[in-house]
Amino acid sequence: MPSRRVIGIDAGGTKLIGGVVDEALAVRHRVHRTWRGADRQETLDIFVEAVEEVRDAAPDVEAVGFGIPALVEWETGVSRWSNHLPLEDVPFRDLMSERLGLRVAVDNDTNLALLAEHRRGAARGAMHAVMISLGTGIGSGLLLDGRIYRGAVGVAAELGHVVLDLHGPDCPGSCPGRGCFEALVSGRAIGTEGERLARLQPESALGRAVAAEGGLSGWRVTELAHDGDEAARQAVTEVGRRLGAGLVGVVNVFNPELIVIGGGAVGAGDLLLEPARSVVAERALPPSRELVRIVPAHFGDESGMLGAALLALDLLAPAGTASSGASS
Ligand SMILES: [Zn+2]
Repeated sequence: MPSRRVIGIDAGGTKLIGGVVDEALAVRHRVHRTWRGADRQETLDIFVEAVEEVRDAAPDVEAVGFGIPALVEWETGVSRWSNHLPLEDVPFRDLMSERLGLRVAVDNDTNLALLAEHRRGAARGAMHAVMISLGTGIGSGLLLDGRIYRGAVGVAAELGHVVLDLHGPDCPGSCPGRGCFEALVSGRAIGTEGERLARLQPESALGRAVAAEGGLSGWRVTELAHDGDEAARQAVTEVGRRLGAGLVGVVNVFNPELIVIGGGAVGAGDLLLEPARSVVAERALPPSRELVRIVPAHFGDESGMLGAALLALDLLAPAGTASSGASS
């Protein structure tokens, strides 16, 4: 029997990626969009256009899964709140189903990244794992006793909005908090820290890049760090240490076997993860700190798209036959 195919869409705070995904998780007909300050209607239109573009290339697909950076009620598919997109109180699943005429599944983007990593990736076989996705902000997902933990209505696991610094910077986006994990650690935080160090070290490659380019993204700082610029490495190391400080709390609370780090910032690799591991080894409680492994996502920044596809494939599976590690 030919492999079934669905569409997986992963929406982050600044961009959307998607594609046609088969049961072996091979991806075809990829699609990319950026939000560029779109309002609610424009944002929903972009989701629809992205799916329609993929569907034109693969008219046989029967379902689409969406991972969105939002607090999604699991039972109803309603997006209750989002820090980065205008998706407050949007009946996302029903709206998309109506507009697309396809079966639709929706969940928080990082829950779905965790689903993919648990069934097929870095967390395969784990019973207790935490997924942290570092992109525009911080997404997170919890695997507790072998199941994805969703809380009372499905909006749990927002580790990005745990406060690390009472007097810290305002949390970016619409979060009312300040000094949140997300305010201190994210792809954007790497860029901000890079700009700070560039002012202190104007002769560095980092300093010259700011002078020439006017500002720095996390991606650009990471690239300069990989090229060996010491100031850029310091910026990534600092954010890695902050990441570790946040993970100390995660390790102490959840005693996970592993923490999977995904999202765009995972491109920094061990430049980011080694400082995080050092802080956890120094400051978390025994014996959890000896047990936990901190690893990059097997699927890199595509975990969310693949998890969205797995959720859509579950819709097509006869009841009770979703592959092992089912999340619901
Ligand atoms: Zn926050």
